[in-house]
Amino acid sequence: MTSIGPYTLRTIEAGRFGLDGGAMFGIVPKPLWERRIPADSKNRIPLNMRCLLIEGEGRLMLVDNGLGDKYDQKFGSIFGVDTEYAELHRSLHAAGVSAEDITDVIITHLHFDHCGGTTSRDGDALRMVFKNATHHVQKSHWEWAQVPNIRERNSFLKENLEPMGASGQLRLLSGTAEIAPGIEVFAVSGHTEGMQLVKLSDGEHTLVYAADLIPTHAHVPMAWNMAYDIHPLKTIQEKEVVLEQAVREGWSLFLEHDPEVEVISLKRSDRGIAVENPRPLKELK
Ligand SMILES: [Zn+2]
Repeated sequence: MTSIGPYTLRTIEAGRFGLDGGAMFGIVPKPLWERRIPADSKNRIPLNMRCLLIEGEGRLMLVDNGLGDKYDQKFGSIFGVDTEYAELHRSLHAAGVSAEDITDVIITHLHFDHCGGTTSRDGDALRMVFKNATHHVQKSHWEWAQVPNIRERNSFLKENLEPMGASGQLRLLSGTAEIAPGIEVFAVSGHTEGMQLVKLSDGEHTLVYAADLIPTHAHVPMAWNMAYDIHPLKTIQEKEVVLEQAVREGWSLFLEHDPEVEVISLKRSDRGIAVENPRPLKELK
């Protein structure tokens, strides 16, 4: 079992979906990106929704929760949603955990593929899935998502946000904040205003849940960024800071969307910072 300090860590796969490869790699030409992650006949690349379960100190914490089960057939086909591959509750069950056991849900940001599992349909009503959990979101991001801009409008779904807002289970954070001893979140704003990354450290080993700052191993090069980002130059600055620190201090990164690789380390190379030692979470150390 993988652990950092008092916490055991497990991957919880919530399924797969697909997004346009061009949109996922911004200015990078297709002949380059498709060598790293090949596209399907609709030009989509497969993306995992890989959540992280953290257990220890009397807490059971889940980082992100995939896109949930509220979508219709049209949405499922546009985004190539694949829950045969994996599904949130099946994965939790396989880890011996049920939704009621979760004490904390850390939501990196409110785009549908990160927080859709927070709510579920109950007939005509919507209900909170993790009914005993505190849900941690950055305050700036929560406010940003309430009045969505045109580019992000289709990513912030009211069936995800409204029940959360009414639940009394939200904890709104301002920048760097401690979730539990040795577990903190910090905010970056290139991808969307106030996205938070999660950093677990015991002083010797550090793992950062990289969310949409570095969604796959192919997003390590500085110019390989998503066209979805609201501030592309800010993403580059923020990536530089995180990757530099990762090299200097030997951090590992947990990749939420990579179709194969769960965890990477980083090294300096003649072409800048590069991936080292891609591996499953259970081989973290
Ligand atoms: Zn996102």
